[in-house]
Formats: sequence, structure tokens, C-alpha cells
Amino acid sequence: MRSPAELTSAFRARGLKLTPQRQLLFRLLHENTTHPTAEQLFAVASEQMPGISLRTVYQTLNDLTTMGELQCFAFDGAASRFDPNVDAHHHVVCRSCGTVADVYVEGTESLALDDLHGFSIDSSDIVFHGVCAACSVSTHTPPTTTDMGVTT
Ligand SMILES: [Zn+2]
Ligand SMILES: [Zn+2]
Repeated sequence: MRSPAELTSAFRARGLKLTPQRQLLFRLLHENTTHPTAEQLFAVASEQMPGISLRTVYQTLNDLTTMGELQCFAFDGAASRFDPNVDAHHHVVCRSCGTVADVYVEGTESLALDDLHGFSIDSSDIVFHGVCAACSVSTHTPPTTTDMGVTT
């Protein structure tokens, strides 16, 4: 995704509406590596600019996706996530807390792919599922001592 200043001129050049709300979203998305959903972005934006509407957030995300400034993806039937990193990359997802991080696979074209059923592939989107470092630490800490349910 381009810088907020460059996006401002790109929006102007396309005759798209440019409001302080949209410019706030440009800033929140710029170099954002958390892969937020529209709702998560809306929550953060609302703290900084009360009164911003979810509709504005969706519209801005749509416009940026159409312009190729954002990638949009979804998995597990969950809400779409938005990614200002438009380089070819894949994702790893924590099945415990939902954290998403970028994964780069070297030499995608040389992956040993089985029968592609006659498809010619122009892009790929691989999602690796697992448990993140923070979650694997917390699952390995011993449970807090509890009484054994013995009543006197
Ligand atoms: Zn996690
Ligand atoms: Zn990503």
C-alpha cells in the first residue's frame, strides 16, 4: 500500500470522495501487519474519530482493494481480513488467538505440485494453521492450583 499522502492524491485523481475519516483509515492501514477485519479497524478508528461509520470503513476498504492497494482474504468462514502488504505472500494463523502473520515461500513456482487438473495458475494463497509463540507459552504453564472440589 502506498503512503497516506500518495493515496490522498490517488483518490483525488479518481474523483473519489476524500474525507478526514478516509484519511484516518489510510494512516491506520499504512504498514499495518495485523491483518485486521473491517470491524477491528472500525473499533480502532472509532477511538480516534468518534462518529465514523462502519459503512465508511467498508467503502474505503472496498475502494482500496479495487485500486490494488489492499489484499483481502478470508479463511475458516471468518470475516474478511485486509492486508496492505500486496506482495505475493502467504499466511500463518494461530488457531488459539487468531493472530495472522505473513509467510514468504521461496520459489513458489518450483513447488512440487500434483495434478492441477488443467488449470493454469496465476496466484496462490496458502494458509498455515498452528499455535503462535505467545499461545504455546501460555498452554505450557502449569494450571493454577485449584481445590479438588472437596467440601467439608
Ligand atoms: Zn496465538
Ligand atoms: Zn499478509
